[in-house]
Amino acid sequence: MTETAAFSDTYTTARDRFLEAAQAAGGDVQYYVNPHAKGPSGETLSMDTAWFGPRDASAVLLNTCGTHGAEGFAGSAAQLDWIKEGGPTTLPPGVAVLMVHAVNPFGFAWCLRGTENNVDLNRNWLDHSAPHPENPLYEQIHPLLCPKRMDEKAIRRLLNEGARLIAKHGLWSIEDAISRGQYSHPDGFHFGGTSLEWSTATLKELVERELATTRQVGFIDWHTGPVGDGELIYLCFSPPGSPGLAQAKHWWGREALNADHVDQLWGSKRPTRNGILFWGIEEALASHATFAGAVVEFRSSSPKSNAAEALRVSMLERWLRFEGGLDAPEAASYLAEIREDYAPDRESFRTNVIRNARTTYEQTLAGLAEWRGADAAD
Ligand SMILES: [Zn+2]
Repeated sequence: MTETAAFSDTYTTARDRFLEAAQAAGGDVQYYVNPHAKGPSGETLSMDTAWFGPRDASAVLLNTCGTHGAEGFAGSAAQLDWIKEGGPTTLPPGVAVLMVHAVNPFGFAWCLRGTENNVDLNRNWLDHSAPHPENPLYEQIHPLLCPKRMDEKAIRRLLNEGARLIAKHGLWSIEDAISRGQYSHPDGFHFGGTSLEWSTATLKELVERELATTRQVGFIDWHTGPVGDGELIYLCFSPPGSPGLAQAKHWWGREALNADHVDQLWGSKRPTRNGILFWGIEEALASHATFAGAVVEFRSSSPKSNAAEALRVSMLERWLRFEGGLDAPEAASYLAEIREDYAPDRESFRTNVIRNARTTYEQTLAGLAEWRGADAAD
């Protein structure tokens, strides 16, 4: 298949192609239908999984896409390309792959980042019976991010008031407050929810069941967003000095995991995180499995000239959800803008995504085989 042929135009097409290819390649396929939401034309929304390789494999690559909805177009293409290009026939002995297609099918289908409840799944995997992480600075920024109208006045206010807050608190603190996750404003940015989302609970349950006897788990969660053209950013959340970080460096290279290098690609020092899938899955499997991996970003969006441009796509999503509605006259053009940032049509982007994904799958599966061998020899 050509490098860009695995890209689909809609969630439903992507889903159908994933299921068909997985079955044709001998994958063991499961469906998890979201009972709480539908797609824009009433489509069924489902998280689908496919297992390739021996059921009793001691080392498994868990590979998710669509955690952030519309970011799933690239990850879905990477998964489909791997299946269609014969990936399942080249698995090293004792290594299997568990692919999870569309962790957030609502966002994928509607071309949005959050879930049906405006929840950012990479802030949601927490013990919600305990006090939530605080984010007091977000309170001050929230009104600026949530205008009633997406007009010039709102942009000027955001830039002027934002500049004042940056002068007082520093740029990084403001960026961090906006994106680290907040648990107080359900209509705001990076809302982490007040209970586990359907997506999180479903993923947790399936990972615990499917990987109950796995000893080494590799993890790739495909995302898109930062400015670029399909180049990769490896966001590893294993602490410095940990065996997980050592594995990731071994698979993908020291430079790719170097913190300064990652910050440079990301565009600033990485913000704080709470409630991410990476830690949730690691903890869910901690009794029996060692864990290594990363959120892997395909850089996708166009360069931005100021903070208002950088925040625009998130503001459009929030406006559609809470002010204008997804059936507003502006919806089609706003959704197209959002899609252009997360899933551009550019040929160069699509080609780079597939080339980089192929290399990453190869490196990760070889790394898992080696890790398995080393652990078996202990
Ligand atoms: Zn993302």
